[in-house]
Amino acid sequence: MPTYEYECRECGERCEFFQNITEGAKRKCPECGRLKLKRLIGNGSCIIFKGSGFYETDYKRKKDLGNGA
Ligand SMILES: [Zn+2]
Repeated sequence: MPTYEYECRECGERCEFFQNITEGAKRKCPECGRLKLKRLIGNGSCIIFKGSGFYETDYKRKKDLGNGA
């Protein structure tokens, strides 16, 4: 079953849901309960996004781009 990442536009909570591909996008944030979830597309390989791990990953990616040029 595919995993989908969501980000809440209200509180910034990020979470993953296992969903059947035929299911519609989720809307309700498990953190704040508002219908503000937005599905993140094309980011399936990035698992670490909780807390500071998200920023570390982002930082390394930018650094790699600089070295490769
Ligand atoms: Zn929320």
